[in-house]
Amino acid sequence: MSIERDVHEQPGRPPITRGGPSLPQERRLVTEIPGPRSREMFARKQSAIPPGIGTTLPVFVTHAGGGVVVDADGNSLIDFGSGIAVTSVGNAAPRVVERVQKQVADFTHTCFMVTPYESYVEVCEKLNALTPGDHEKRSFLVNSGAEAVENAVKVARHATGRQAVVVFDHGYHGRTLLTMTLTAKNMPYKHRFGPYAPEVYRVPMAYPFRWPTGPENCAEEAAAQAIDMINKQIGAENVAAIVIEPIQGEGGFIEPARGFLPALVEYSRANGIVFIADEVQTGFARTGHLFACEDEGIVPDIICTAKGIAGGLPLAAVTGRAELLDAVHVGGLGGTYGGNPLACEAALAVLDTIEAENLVERARQIGALMLPRLRALAERFDLIGDIRGRGAMIAIELIVPGSKEPDPAVTGEIVRRCHAEGLVVLTAGTYGNVLRFLPPLSISDNLLEEGLSILEKAISSV
Ligand SMILES: *Cc1c(COP(=O)(O)O)cnc(C)c1O
Repeated sequence: MSIERDVHEQPGRPPITRGGPSLPQERRLVTEIPGPRSREMFARKQSAIPPGIGTTLPVFVTHAGGGVVVDADGNSLIDFGSGIAVTSVGNAAPRVVERVQKQVADFTHTCFMVTPYESYVEVCEKLNALTPGDHEKRSFLVNSGAEAVENAVKVARHATGRQAVVVFDHGYHGRTLLTMTLTAKNMPYKHRFGPYAPEVYRVPMAYPFRWPTGPENCAEEAAAQAIDMINKQIGAENVAAIVIEPIQGEGGFIEPARGFLPALVEYSRANGIVFIADEVQTGFARTGHLFACEDEGIVPDIICTAKGIAGGLPLAAVTGRAELLDAVHVGGLGGTYGGNPLACEAALAVLDTIEAENLVERARQIGALMLPRLRALAERFDLIGDIRGRGAMIAIELIVPGSKEPDPAVTGEIVRRCHAEGLVVLTAGTYGNVLRFLPPLSISDNLLEEGLSILEKAISSV
């Protein structure tokens, strides 16, 4: 197979030479989705890569930026996924490209634990300053969200001398042995991958849409049930950490009923339990706050971040109270690649971009644009059971009309129709019946509106 002479070349259009925001910000379908080049590469994927590595939409990407993803057939798709909330500042964001290009020519790796470099320290200083709470903090860097959560639990266990970890229904924390154990959903994350890690206990989540006695009672009753289970079944004095996503991601963008998180924080404080916020999906402006914990003003003891932190380069962080993180002995934390210099430069560029482009406010605007249109849709179609989320992290939950029964089949069909029309959307939810929207914060209002129109058409046609 030869490298394509520019497949994107079209009459009257300059050939694409790079991605980023300078890509034409338009939806443009020149073949069916996926097109012939993507289908050919997908066949190669299937011969070379095990099916365990799934594919949401089999178009092979050559460029991306702003609010679009361009594929090998020259189609330009609207991006409502951001590679799962990663490219919040946009794909190939200019500041990220510039800093990474300089760094890659300077040096690519030393291992921070062997011979350190300044950018790692600067990322940690910034995380210490920007994360919720004005207490003394420390941070360290790892490669993935799962690794951050796993390390946060290690720190909490070490610092408290306790073992039990409390997690929630519908929670998702990653795919390593510990974090898959912390994750609620069997299929596909846990199925036949056991035995799981010990000392992990699951308690109810304040899920307003599905709370048996109604959303008004949800926060108080769920907190009381969770706390009662901890007291009776584990013993508060045996609990090292409570680990929770301030808005659940893979679980279906479940916003806990207001009051639930503060009640858990208060309980943790009173019982010497480390409260760990998994902000891997919600962090870095996504929800209209720099961190989702800010919405109810809660201050976690440890906060885990990843995904949106470095514009697509692999980086994650554990940030927490100095006395917890400093408790671990010299050499007890780390890893070969953690805080790789390219990823650190990218993270510094992301933080600059969030500030310079006012992306926290932009996430709010995106929510303000999307929510009324989705609510109007819900008025018309009673298969929409719930609309929820904050900022640019919005979801709709699809049900069998007249009930609360999840409808994963209709959800899948809507997604297929959106994909066929050139809109990248993702699903989520324990029952597979949630459509989730995570547009890059660099997307234009026009593309957002056009994406919503495609969604509207898909929903009205099923
Ligand atoms: C994605 C995610 C993780 C896991 O991150 P990886 O980088 O895939 O390991 C953990 N927690 C939450 C909330 C996530 O969304």
